[in-house]
Amino acid sequence: MKTSQLFLHSRLRLAVWYTLVMGVILSISGLGIYRSLVQSNWQAIEREIESIAGTLHDSLEPMLPPSENPTTVLKRILPELCLVGQPCNSNPSLIERHTTGISDRNTYYLRLFDYQGKLLAFSPNQPNNLSKSLNSEPWQTFTSNGIRYHQFTIILHSSHTHDLAVNSSWGYLQLGRTLQPFDAEVKRIQVILMFGFPLVLGLVILSSWWLSGLAMQPIYQSYQQQKQFTANAAHELRSPLASLLATIEAILRISPSQPQDLNKMLHTLERQGRRLSNLVTDLLLLTSLEAKSSSDEFQSCCLNDLVSDLIEEFSELATIKDIDLIEYIPDEKIYVSGDESQLYRLVSNLIANAIQYTPSGGQIMVSLKTKENTALIIMQDTGIGIPKEVQKRIFERFYRVDSTRNRKTGGTGLGLAIAQAIAHHHQGCITVKSQLGTGSLFKIYLPSQTTTTEKK
Ligand code: ADP
Repeated sequence: MKTSQLFLHSRLRLAVWYTLVMGVILSISGLGIYRSLVQSNWQAIEREIESIAGTLHDSLEPMLPPSENPTTVLKRILPELCLVGQPCNSNPSLIERHTTGISDRNTYYLRLFDYQGKLLAFSPNQPNNLSKSLNSEPWQTFTSNGIRYHQFTIILHSSHTHDLAVNSSWGYLQLGRTLQPFDAEVKRIQVILMFGFPLVLGLVILSSWWLSGLAMQPIYQSYQQQKQFTANAAHELRSPLASLLATIEAILRISPSQPQDLNKMLHTLERQGRRLSNLVTDLLLLTSLEAKSSSDEFQSCCLNDLVSDLIEEFSELATIKDIDLIEYIPDEKIYVSGDESQLYRLVSNLIANAIQYTPSGGQIMVSLKTKENTALIIMQDTGIGIPKEVQKRIFERFYRVDSTRNRKTGGTGLGLAIAQAIAHHHQGCITVKSQLGTGSLFKIYLPSQTTTTEKK
């Protein structure tokens, strides 16, 4: 599979997984919200019925007649109710008075039963086909003419119940209501969910595709960098290997009567071999630095000693090139926690570069300071400088501003990449400021340890 196809395929798979996971989460939460909305509406309805029934019950009970045939008295206290077997009227009702402000008059109906469950009276708006005998279940839901109803039955006691020998209750009050508004609300929620879910899912698909693209980006970039690195490494290894092989071939062809030529060629061979070995060592160091994340082997390193040792080491080279190598190291000892050999490599790479890219007669100043728990090593030279547009790229592996010149001078293009990897490994960083033809300023920032003052 081609790389681009592989990445596209991975992105697609990631997007599908995102969509699936988000879809499941959305469905579960949508279902949860739907259930809780329906449940709370239902509970509100039951609470409302219960409260109206309770009020009616409390108002009715003291007025209930003692007689076994109470229809005449009922007609007096509830004139709006239809008595079984008699014509109805529609005066403002007790139930209307109790339900005013809660619901419209047609929402509720009322039925009264005697203690044997025989229907005595009912509201004129009660649903058709309702049974005339009592179903004593407290809560009932049923459908009549395609409309759902919910009703509540409550026992009525009268102050005269002790007269009724057979049963302790006077009768039953049944209050019901239509579920039309509730069903309409449920339908409305269902419609919202039905249209809203595909819409949200569409948005989830789009955002999943975008997010998977974002997630793939660093992987793709790292893959491209790795590819570039492999190509560069192969290219860098090929040149010294080719010249090594050419030298060996020439040695094999040389006649034994020319030992001085043989000696010269063996020196060339050694130089090329060393260059190759340095390159491989640098590559291995870079790889191991990137793989390492622990700072277990770190110890306290004195930067004052480290910098002055390196200045001493490079002073001969600077003198040969007629460069003024100046150091400014404070009396105050500055310590960092780190790997000493790596820190040597970090600073020496920068000093070596400064010497390499500063023409004769130039000046290099290496100074050391500390600023708010940060140790600062500054390398300022009056060298050739680095063009602004490539200043960010000089830390890339194998990058050289002028590749032809650097190959001749022996640079591999890994020096700054290694320096930066070491700085990062020590939780530090390197910055560069440079002006073409004027010089460069490199700063190494490292987290410092507590310092002690010591006179030289
Ligand atoms: P090299 O082995 O080529 O020196 P580096 O990674 O050390 O590789 O540096 C990368 C490039 O940055 C160099 O090729 C050089 O062009 C530029 N460079 C680094 N240091 C300096 C400096 N002090 N002055 C000018 N150019 C520099």
